[in-house]
Amino acid sequence: MAAAAPVNGRRRTLLQAAAALPLAACTKVPPPLPAGGWIGAAHERGHRLRGAIPVEGFDARGAAPRRASALVLGAGIAGLAAARGFARAGVDDVHVLELEDEPGGNSRGHAMGGIACPRGAHYLPQPQEPAHEVIEWLHEIGLLRHEAGRSVADERHLCHAPQERLWFEGAWHDGLLPPADPASGTQAQYRRLAAAVAAAPRFAIPSHRVAWTAAHETLDRQSFASWLDAQGLSDARLRWYLDYACRDDYGAASDEVSARAGLHYFGSRHGFHAPGQEQEPPEPVFTWPEGNAHLVRRLAQPLAERVHGGRVVLRVREERGGVLVLAGHGDALEVWRAGTVVIALPLFVAARVLESPPQALVQAAAGTTYAPWLVANLQLDAPLRARPGVPAAWDNVAFGSRMLGYVDAMHQSLRPVPGPTVLTAYAALARSERAALLAPDWAPWAERVLAELAPVHPDLRERVQRVDLVRWGHAMAIPRPGLRATAAARAALRGGRGRVRFAHADLAGYSIFEEAFTAGCEAAAAPCRCG
Ligand SMILES: Cc1cc2nc3c(=O)[nH]c(=O)nc-3n(C[C@H](O)[C@H](O)[C@H](O)COP(=O)(O)OP(=O)(O)OC[C@H]3O[C@@H](n4cnc5c(N)ncnc54)[C@H](O)[C@@H]3O)c2cc1C
Repeated sequence: MAAAAPVNGRRRTLLQAAAALPLAACTKVPPPLPAGGWIGAAHERGHRLRGAIPVEGFDARGAAPRRASALVLGAGIAGLAAARGFARAGVDDVHVLELEDEPGGNSRGHAMGGIACPRGAHYLPQPQEPAHEVIEWLHEIGLLRHEAGRSVADERHLCHAPQERLWFEGAWHDGLLPPADPASGTQAQYRRLAAAVAAAPRFAIPSHRVAWTAAHETLDRQSFASWLDAQGLSDARLRWYLDYACRDDYGAASDEVSARAGLHYFGSRHGFHAPGQEQEPPEPVFTWPEGNAHLVRRLAQPLAERVHGGRVVLRVREERGGVLVLAGHGDALEVWRAGTVVIALPLFVAARVLESPPQALVQAAAGTTYAPWLVANLQLDAPLRARPGVPAAWDNVAFGSRMLGYVDAMHQSLRPVPGPTVLTAYAALARSERAALLAPDWAPWAERVLAELAPVHPDLRERVQRVDLVRWGHAMAIPRPGLRATAAARAALRGGRGRVRFAHADLAGYSIFEEAFTAGCEAAAAPCRCG
């Protein structure tokens, strides 16, 4: 979707106010907000589902419904992976309907001043064996190659060093772990957490490829915060870091996610390493200036015009011999008839559009809670002044901040001298803030982002040319305590051999690329049924 035109009423007001002030009083006028505005997601299209959905005459609408052997609803990672799966199986007429103008869902990209930047998802760690479909695809598109029996990443696509840094007590530090406080024994607590993570039950990505054990069940019943309390892991710096990790991956704090999710964060990937015990070399991470929109392009390109943007799926009805889908396209309505339909939509949307949803879908949707997020893209005309400590990294986080830091779109560039760039700042919001995200006035949100970053970068305000904000009302599923209660329902929705199948990261109860991609592949694994 194109960037919104500058909505600069507030800036004008501030300038007029400044002009009216006597000179002596002008010294304290805050610098005006730069240009900016909201860009996607198109919530007003999605909210069509809140109104009455036309059902009468659904099947009679339009003389001849459009036909497809396989129809995928939603062009996020899961939907694109499902469509790829059918296409690889030889289904030529697989089509995808997507609400937004562009494919990608939460992994779409943006550009400001000719610089590509993410709108949401921005990295993919090099996947491990249980995510074998992802590994196979990364080989297919050349991001991995076989070397001495191992998968080796193409370094041109890996995050350049330095990868991460933390703003702590007036200086930048390497990595995201706060420096240990000798007075409170932080280092000893870091070591104890490392040992606890090593002793925890097995975790995997995708998460359903590890069987639940009694130990997983116990961890699932309690919050990560209460589990940490019970372990005596109370050091303030350690707890800030763990809270940050939960908000970053799950959109919610450590007292809202389960201990199973908290430990999964480390156990499914890189483990937890106390300072001095770090992995060598660090876990490879793929990233691009536009974030995971790079991966979206690689998935969507082969599907070409079979991805239909601007289609709001309103109704899905399974009938004898086929599935009918009603979609809004602008003011018009379209009817599609397909042999097999993959509903690659968030579960709460899937439950809303499917007539007579199965009990498993109703249960899984009711058991899923979503975190809202705000993403702010800040276009800078020149690099920010260097501050004490380690140099600029790709991911830059401030200790104690309510936000989750920012990534620098030009970090991956090979230019010899730093210049204009785009910083993408992330905030996981409280669920109570979701309604406020819909406010048309973007300025208070932009002010909030700039204020959060000001202590770290006092010159930010002078450098920012434009602020483009993305609101994600239902950004990601939160793996809250008690997720086990809906595990059977979510498992029942996976894969599928029937005419109506499901695919979305929500099936895992949390949201990352590998989960979405795998869910899509599984939905297309069984042959599609003829129409
Ligand atoms: C801010 C943010 C940052 C993230 N960062 C990362 C990251 O760095 N790495 C990572 O691995 N993951 C990250 N994630 C998680 C990300 O959600 C997943 O990686 C992945 O993109 C989820 O894909 P999906 O297909 O399951 O879901 P979605 O992206 O939700 O796709 C669903 C699609 O359905 C469409 N849709 C919804 N309703 C309708 C309708 N009625 N009709 C038609 N279409 C409809 C949507 O527009 C969307 O395109 C991030 C998420 C957010 C929000």
